Amino acid sequence: MIDQKRLIANFFEIVGIDSLTFNEEALVDHLSKKLRGLGFSIKIDGAGKEIGGNTGNLIAHLPGDSSKPAIFFNCHLDTVEPGIGIEPVVADGIIKSKNETILGADDKAGIAALLEMAHAIVEEKASVGPIDIIFTVAEEKGLLGAKHLDWSLVTGEYGFVLDAAGMVGEITTIAPWQNSITAVFYGKAAHAGISPESGISAIQAAARAVETMPLGRRDRETTANIGEIKGGRAPNIVPENAEIKGEARSAKVSKLNRQTDRMVQAIKRSAKAYGATVDVQVTREYDGFSFSSKHKVVTRAGLALKAMGIEPIYAATGGGSDTNVFNAQNIPTINLGVGYLDPHTTNESISVDQLGLAAELALTIAKQ
Ligand SMILES: [Zn+2]
Repeated sequence: MIDQKRLIANFFEIVGIDSLTFNEEALVDHLSKKLRGLGFSIKIDGAGKEIGGNTGNLIAHLPGDSSKPAIFFNCHLDTVEPGIGIEPVVADGIIKSKNETILGADDKAGIAALLEMAHAIVEEKASVGPIDIIFTVAEEKGLLGAKHLDWSLVTGEYGFVLDAAGMVGEITTIAPWQNSITAVFYGKAAHAGISPESGISAIQAAARAVETMPLGRRDRETTANIGEIKGGRAPNIVPENAEIKGEARSAKVSKLNRQTDRMVQAIKRSAKAYGATVDVQVTREYDGFSFSSKHKVVTRAGLALKAMGIEPIYAATGGGSDTNVFNAQNIPTINLGVGYLDPHTTNESISVDQLGLAAELALTIAKQ
């Protein structure tokens, strides 16, 4: 059974441990101790060294009954800024940060829920299959921790990420593929007043590229944005450099490729029109995923919710999470609503009730 008091106390304790991206070690130590005490074996992989953090991903394993399918749960350890010295307070059943910081319920509500699940499994001597709890570092910086996870330490055949905003009951079954695009334009510097005709404006070429490429919401499942632009040296110099950075996302990889191609073509055409040259770099940030409601990972979560009296809501997201990285490894994984609201803002909150439901959902899934 979920012990609501212990759950809240653990959540407060975890929120009080600073864990900005690349500085998750104190939280890893804390959780390692707690889970080891509950009979989990603890491994920390080498991701920290590879990405410049002070610790790697934490993989806790409970052997369970090996005749049942092995599953895993995942939350990320790191939080965004301002996230130092967070003091949670509860009023009218809602937990918020007392000061001008985030709360860090993203993703510490999930972490506390999983810790409570572990407590309850041990207390009830519940019959569960093998369970991995994977706590990843550096999710907030391009999913770097998951991207450097030591997959040999993962035994789960499929899994559940507790890292979606919105109510418990929402199941993210569709997430986009994403490309990032960087273009550096090279023109020719010249005195803007004396000999502008001998210059080539990299800024004009970049501006035309942005103006002529399709951006914003392209269709229901495809979006594109140029989010950064910089260049030039001074008002009286024809600019020889300009750089634009953007991204494209789509729930369909074929649409993403088409959208990306149109952006790259606009960039190349615009450079040519001004006699500039351009270097374009396209990087696949992560792969998307799409599950039918009949997939076993979806039905397991759906049945657990129904057993709790909650009707599951299947949702698509426009954002990326560690869920994308697991799916790219061909490990079917969905993202579950944990109940936190306004993540990445100082208004972030979670209700005591939702936190309890998140823990109950994890426990119910584990026991199925
Ligand atoms: Zn998160």
